[in-house]
Parts: sequence; structure tokens; C-alpha cells
Amino acid sequence: MAVGGMVNHSSNTAATSCLSPFQNESASVEAARILPQVLELVHTFIESGERPETYVAPWGSIPNFRKSVSLSLPEAPTDDAALVDAIKLVFDNSVNPWTGRFLDKLYAAPTPVGIAADLVLSAANANAHVMSASPVLSLAEERCVQGLCEAFGFTQQKPDGLTMPGGSSANTLAVQTALANIFPRFRTQGLLGVMQQLAEDKKAPRPLLFTSSQCHYSLDKAAISAGLGLHSVVKVECDDTGRMDPKALEAALSAAKEQGTGTPFLINATSGTTVLGSFDPLLELAALARKHNCWLHIDASWGGPIVFSHRSIYSGLMKGSHLADSITINPHKLLNVPLQCSFLLVRDADTLSANSLDAGYLFHSKDRRENAAMKTMGCGRRGDALKFWLYWVRYGKRGFGQHVDAGLQLATELVDYIRSKSDQIELGPLAHPLFLQICFRPLRPHNHASSDVRQNANAGAQQLDAAEVKRRSAATQFVYQELKTRRMFAVDFAPLPNAIGDYIRLVVHPRTKMEDLKTLVDQVAEIGQLYWSQHE
Ligand SMILES: *Cc1c(COP(=O)(O)O)cnc(C)c1O
Repeated sequence: MAVGGMVNHSSNTAATSCLSPFQNESASVEAARILPQVLELVHTFIESGERPETYVAPWGSIPNFRKSVSLSLPEAPTDDAALVDAIKLVFDNSVNPWTGRFLDKLYAAPTPVGIAADLVLSAANANAHVMSASPVLSLAEERCVQGLCEAFGFTQQKPDGLTMPGGSSANTLAVQTALANIFPRFRTQGLLGVMQQLAEDKKAPRPLLFTSSQCHYSLDKAAISAGLGLHSVVKVECDDTGRMDPKALEAALSAAKEQGTGTPFLINATSGTTVLGSFDPLLELAALARKHNCWLHIDASWGGPIVFSHRSIYSGLMKGSHLADSITINPHKLLNVPLQCSFLLVRDADTLSANSLDAGYLFHSKDRRENAAMKTMGCGRRGDALKFWLYWVRYGKRGFGQHVDAGLQLATELVDYIRSKSDQIELGPLAHPLFLQICFRPLRPHNHASSDVRQNANAGAQQLDAAEVKRRSAATQFVYQELKTRRMFAVDFAPLPNAIGDYIRLVVHPRTKMEDLKTLVDQVAEIGQLYWSQHE
């Protein structure tokens, strides 16, 4: 008995030490206990964001933040209280987008629907690589792809698409898909095969990608990762509002061919540039793409939702999108779906076959609709489309349009307000028609004539000398730093085209309050006056 008892005892000990601490109790019991506490913290964070005195960023600077916060890596398991404290620490030290004063980047707070969607995704934890693992998530992806394809006019051929973990990844996959479709040897022989083919065809062996000087840097990254290298990216000039100049594109395409620097294979159009919010002229670019046998990609990561707008002056901005071969759109920006949610759409579903491989252990049919991972270089995939689908269920296509239009209305009113302060603020060039970015900086006193760059017929002709550009950029950066120290607004600054220097770049989000926007402009004016009073 004693021996048996001992045996029992030791096997019990062994059994206990083999139990994962993840199963100390049933998941349903643990969930019922901790999730309400977490939701309470989430709610507190949102509520605090809605209070006018809440800082948008808890720390004025990264060094301060690093000094003040340290995250533990405990040796032993901890209890609920420690977990809740850790989550509190996260919220206490996070930028609070619910303030509506986070105007620094192209994304903003999600909606509660987004938080719900993220919870659902985590609870279901289904891998969207094959439909058998994630039936509804895959269907949601298929439906969102269909809805977006329709919105962009991909209705002639059988279109397709998929979610990607961000616009940069979507652009990268677009470049790769283009290479594989334009150059059939790319898939098996890589760039070496492409170059041999071009040489056999008496063409310049370097494949070239054309995009505007205002494009997102992910196009450069895509060129690096596709093995093309940065020298294969040709940056085309823009007009003063940041739109690609189609004449300059045509000249660059012809020059490449005539001088033998390379063979054009892709034209990237940006719909909604990162700094000014400009839209490249798609119809002209599509005509040039056809003429030069190029793939046309539209990077509509930021501006894509303009297709939902009900305002007639904006309806032409993406006219011609149906002629593109591929389009990137990020619902995680203007449509406020939680990060990350991005789509790559293709006009012709078969072009994605270039990315398919037969993995017998994963893909048990050749149907890409049932095997989303066949369309991309990734394998395991989060069902990000679910978040967008739940937004679509909640707000409808019409709601997306009203959301975008609310932002455009705010931006218009804000520009009027800034113009009314032209004795203190220098307004930078604006997209035409105005989109959601507004660039401005404190006006240097005694120089009122140049208060609005756009008042000049040709803003480039404003001709600030280099020293003056430097002086005004320094004022911008001073304002930027001071706003950071005050912590009530988060905005960014950026150098603008044509070497006119740095401006504060404000991103108007559709839910931002007009009073907050005005307060920010007032503060820029006030801090600017302080700066110039010390530097003149
Ligand atoms: C934001 C943005 C991207 C990159 O998207 P991520 O999701 O941040 O990778 C690409 N192009 C444009 C025009 C963008 O505004």
C-alpha cells in the first residue's frame, strides 16, 4: 500500500508539473472573470479620450517615455491583478486616438465595431489560408473583395483579390505579380531569366518601374524585395499640387527606351498621396500603360475610399480605376477599421496564379477561392476582412460615403479658417480638389505677400532662396517640438515638393471636432509668433 501510495503520489506530481499553466482552470471560467475587467479598462480608455483635458500622447518625448516605463518579464506565473495592472500600464502609456486630436498619421481611432471585430477574430482564431480552416472568414474576404472590385469598376473580367497585412505588403505583391505576368520567365528563372529574355528581344535588360516623386516609399521597398533594386524605380515629376505629370511620365518612358536604360514594365499611380493627398490622373496613366505594355497599379491605400463619396466634384478623382491591373486600398486608414486591414485587388483573377504553388499538405483543391494563401507569398493569415465586413454591415456603403464626405467638409472649413488668419499662417499647396491633408506653417512676419502659396499662378515660381527655406523650416520644426511638449495635439511635419521646405502636415479625420482643429491652428500661430519674436 505504502509503495503504491508513493507511486501514486509521484505520478500525481509528474502529472501536475506536466499541466500547462494555460489550463489552470477552464477557459470559459477564466474568460468570464477577466474579460469584463479588460472591457472595463477599454471603456475607461475611450471615455478618457473623450475628455477635453486628456493628453493625446502621455509622454512628451521618447527618451522621457523610456525612462518612465519598464516592462517586466516575470519568472513565475502571476495572478489576475498583475495581468490587469499590465493592461492598465499599456493604456496609461498609449497615444490616445479617441481624443480625436491625433492628427499625425493617416489612421485614427477605430469604432467600437472594430474592437468587437478584433475580439471575435481572436476568439475564433481561424487561419484564413484555406477556407476549410476559416469558412466564414474566407467568405467575408471574398465578399469584401467583390464589393471593393465593384466600387473600383472591376466588372469586365473575373476580378479577384485578398487581404494583405498593410499597403506596403499589398504594393510589394502587386509589383511581384506584375513581374511574373509581364515576364513569363520570372517565376521559374527569376530576374536572370527576365534579363536574358529582354536581351533576346533586343530590349534593354533592366525592368523599370515608374511612379511619381510623391509616391509612398513602399514602392522603393517593393523594388528592393523583388530583386530589381532602387535604380529600377524611375521617379516622375509632379505638379505643384503633388499629382504626377503625365507629360513627364511619357517623356521618362520614351527616354528609358531611347537611351536603353531599361524596359518599362509597371506604372504606379497614387490615389491619395501621403503628404498632400493628391490623386494621379488615372485615364492618362492608363493610356500610357497600354501604349508601353506596362502593368498599371493604383496605390489607393489612403485615397481609395473616395469612390464612396457622394460629392460630385470628387467623383472624377478615380475615374479610370477600372483600367488598372491591380489596386491597393487600406480600410485601416480613412475607414477607421482597426490595424491592419488592407486589400490587393486584381482586375483579372488569373494573374494571381503566378503566386501559387502546390503544397499537397495544405491545398487539397486547385481552387484559389478556397485557398487564399495560393494568391500570396504568405501562408498563415489573419482574417482581417472580417473587420471590414462588420463595418460594411454596420455602416453600409452609403455610410462610408457620408464618412468620407464629413471629412472633406471639415477640411474645406478648416482651409477657410486658416485663410482667415493669413497674417499669421502660411498655407502650403493643397491638393485640387482639396483632400484631407492640410499643410501650413507659421508666417514669417513682414512677409505677408507669400501667405498663400496657391495664390500664385505657379506656386513653384514663389522662389524662396535656400536660406529662407531653411529659416521657415526651422520655425515649422520649433512649432512641431513645442506641440509635442504640450501633448494636446499630435501632428507631423513634412518637406513639400519643389523644395519649399517643411510644413506642419495636418490629417483631417472625419470625426475630428472643428473646435479642436481651430485650436490647433491658433496654437501654431501663437507658437510661431513666439518663435519669430526670438529669431528676427
Ligand atoms: C499608408 C500608405 C501606404 C502603406 O500602407 P501600410 O499599411 O502602412 O503598409 C502605401 N501607400 C500610400 C499612398 C499610403 O498612404
